[in-house]
Amino acid sequence: MLEELGRFDGYKLTEIAVESAVVEPDEFRLSGAGQDLGGARRLVLATGLRDVFSDHRYGEFWGRGVYGCTFCHGWDARGQRAAVIGNDHQAATTALSLSALAAEIVIIGEGPAAFSPETGEAIRSVGIVYLDSMVKDVTRSPDGLITLDLAEGPSEFGSVFVRAAKEQHSTLAVTLGCILDEEHLVPVNRSYRTTVPGVFAVGEMAKVDGRRTSAMVVLAAGDGLQAGTSVHLDLAFSDAFGGTNPE
Ligand SMILES: Cc1cc2nc3c(=O)[nH]c(=O)nc-3n(C[C@H](O)[C@H](O)[C@H](O)COP(=O)(O)OP(=O)(O)OC[C@H]3O[C@@H](n4cnc5c(N)ncnc54)[C@H](O)[C@@H]3O)c2cc1C
Repeated sequence: MLEELGRFDGYKLTEIAVESAVVEPDEFRLSGAGQDLGGARRLVLATGLRDVFSDHRYGEFWGRGVYGCTFCHGWDARGQRAAVIGNDHQAATTALSLSALAAEIVIIGEGPAAFSPETGEAIRSVGIVYLDSMVKDVTRSPDGLITLDLAEGPSEFGSVFVRAAKEQHSTLAVTLGCILDEEHLVPVNRSYRTTVPGVFAVGEMAKVDGRRTSAMVVLAAGDGLQAGTSVHLDLAFSDAFGGTNPE
């Protein structure tokens, strides 16, 4: 897809990570790896989020047997024995959303269930087992399964679903002065403008009009398209009469 950009003039593609973006009177000045990467009248941040594991043992297998999202990786669990780590309503929801695909589902609560009796009844009714058991170790078996070492003994699973926290992948938004909300996301309005004039943000890192975008590639790409139209109009208004595009 990037090769297709070659048909257009006036763009520059670099694989250098932007380390600094300095606000100057008429532009943002970008640099990275000790190089000046040029200036930009508007900046669209699309730097995403990073997964952070409170339990680092899962990180080693992330995306390869250990997953976060059943909508992205439920298909990987089809016909398998699957585990869901957690004891709350979200863990029960994750398990239920796998029930049409996985052959066997075990919720490993690492403590007593913290969801309602009705939710407990719902998961039992579709054969999901709840274990109040601690995971002592996470390894991969020779045949590629994920082995969870439980108090009851080692137990093998084709897929393990665990929740990871998210943090901003880049510090650029903060250093530019963008506000981060309580979920460490960058709030933007419907035009994808951050609180810093000239800086826009899209994709997983942003919260559009108070609403978190679901973590899906196509939605992040859609944000990018819409932010592109906002930037285009902003520049057009700015060039036409020195103002900004009224929202
Ligand atoms: C294991 C896993 C599986 C997934 N599976 C699916 C799936 O099947 N389907 C689906 O739709 N979604 C899936 N997702 C979610 C999807 O990947 C994200 O929702 C989506 O990629 C978010 O897009 P984004 O552009 O906001 O951020 P990202 O895709 O994270 O892109 C941000 C980019 O910015 C770069 N960057 C960061 N800082 C800088 C900097 N300072 N300078 C330059 N570049 C920088 C990063 O290196 C990265 O390449 C999955 C996510 C994970 C973790």
